[in-house]
Amino acid sequence: MKPFLKKKTDKTPVAPTQTPTKKNGDNIIEIKGVTKVFDNVTVLDDLSLGIKRGQFVTLLGPSGCGKTTLLRCIAGFESPTSGEIYIEGVPMTSIPSYKRPVNTVFQKYALFPHLNVFKNVAYGLKLKKLPDASKKSGYRKYTKAEITEKVNRALNLVGLADYGYRDVNSLSGGQQQRVAIARAIVCEPKVLLLDEPLGALDLKMRKEMQIELKKMHENLGITFIFVTHDQEEALSMSDVVVVMNDGVIQQIAQPKKIYDEPSNAFVADFIGESNIFSGVMEKDFCVNFLGKSVECVDKGFEKNERVDVVVRPEDIVLTKGEGQFVGEVLSTVFKGTYYEMEVLSDGYEFTVQSQNEARPGTTVSMLIRPDSIHIMKKILTINKYLGEVTGENEVTFCEGSFKIPTEGFETGDEVVVYVPFNAIELTDDEEDGVIGANVTQSLYKGTYYQVQVFTDSDDDFYIDTADEWDMDDRVGIKIDGGKVRLEKYDPEKEEKDEAQG
Ligand code: ATP
Repeated sequence: MKPFLKKKTDKTPVAPTQTPTKKNGDNIIEIKGVTKVFDNVTVLDDLSLGIKRGQFVTLLGPSGCGKTTLLRCIAGFESPTSGEIYIEGVPMTSIPSYKRPVNTVFQKYALFPHLNVFKNVAYGLKLKKLPDASKKSGYRKYTKAEITEKVNRALNLVGLADYGYRDVNSLSGGQQQRVAIARAIVCEPKVLLLDEPLGALDLKMRKEMQIELKKMHENLGITFIFVTHDQEEALSMSDVVVVMNDGVIQQIAQPKKIYDEPSNAFVADFIGESNIFSGVMEKDFCVNFLGKSVECVDKGFEKNERVDVVVRPEDIVLTKGEGQFVGEVLSTVFKGTYYEMEVLSDGYEFTVQSQNEARPGTTVSMLIRPDSIHIMKKILTINKYLGEVTGENEVTFCEGSFKIPTEGFETGDEVVVYVPFNAIELTDDEEDGVIGANVTQSLYKGTYYQVQVFTDSDDDFYIDTADEWDMDDRVGIKIDGGKVRLEKYDPEKEEKDEAQG
């Protein structure tokens, strides 16, 4: 039986903490409730986003999170399964890609190898039809002089003013990408879509092109939507960053806000380095983590609500004894402008970055100021699936049959299966598990890793484990049936729970 909580729907999508615009009227693009499903897998999940005219907006997230799919939906190369995309207030569903006021630059430049630089850039202009009432056909083409003027302007903008005659094959990767950008901007789109356009360049060229692109954006004054999985690139170039994971928007904000105030543990971990601990909100302005009650600036949580506590390494101050946590320095590495230290405190590992060096073996006191503590709602606290009792002490869900006590249930009963994070064991050898999965995320939480895996049945499992797993590791899943809770499936209750998120 298929699990009823398919990929992503079993997570509470994190509402954007800040939309980039106040009035919808300011938005050149409105994405409303867009879902995209490929082969029964939800790749974009009810996604809504407003993009302001003239902004440099970056879609940022790990590989496979749906960035390119969203960009392709805006461009018209893919159609959303549901939802609508508006450009300048016009719904795009029935508008083919070539009629949309957008143009796309891809990672692979896809230039015509037999045409020189000028002809590559001029190609789109030559095909373009301009409305002209004086003509019988109702349109005309650009004149040679108009084409020359526009191509030269575009080449000038990308810093290739004297390159028109050059064979594109004789250009460096960075120059070829500039030609691709010139080709995309020459038709004067209102929105330029850039799909990892710097991905194929070496680091030095990439850095140079980041600066160039930013300048081009300023000079052109049009909206840029840029896709990258490189957080540094996103933070340094954008007006607004949209962080995505698993087809769900995690946060929309200006780069500084994304860094300083990540909306959840995923964003905190993905953007920069973080210490992430599990905690409990004792009351407003007071969180308990690692066994200590610590002052914070957050309020409005339920009493004793479980939360993630995020502390940036550079926000931990090494003091002479006024800190809340005391620990022993395990290692110290000089990183050019600061020291990075691993400190062990009561069995928990902190990463600390400081201008002051503390040598391995010394005892340090760590002070975390209230405004350096970021409290985040836990996205999910238990794994939940729909299953079926398929025998005595056997429950089938996520396309696997697991040994789970079934007292009080009968074979054929539909059940909701609650699997705590600590009830799951990952095995190196897929064959040793009941079902197979790929590791999609691993967050270190001070004493353990919280690992997310994606099964072959398109389900997510969250696991708390002492072991470190790498992204894309292939694993098997075993479950300690004694820790699993079963509940009789009640469609009405489930509907209510879903509605309450
Ligand atoms: P990357 O940075 O690796 O390009 P991304 O965030 O841009 O990743 P997408 O390319 O949007 O991710 O892909 C999201 C998911 O959708 C992936 O699992 C991908 O395999 C799947 N996908 C994309 N296009 C198709 C398609 N045409 N048919 C089936 N699955 C697809």
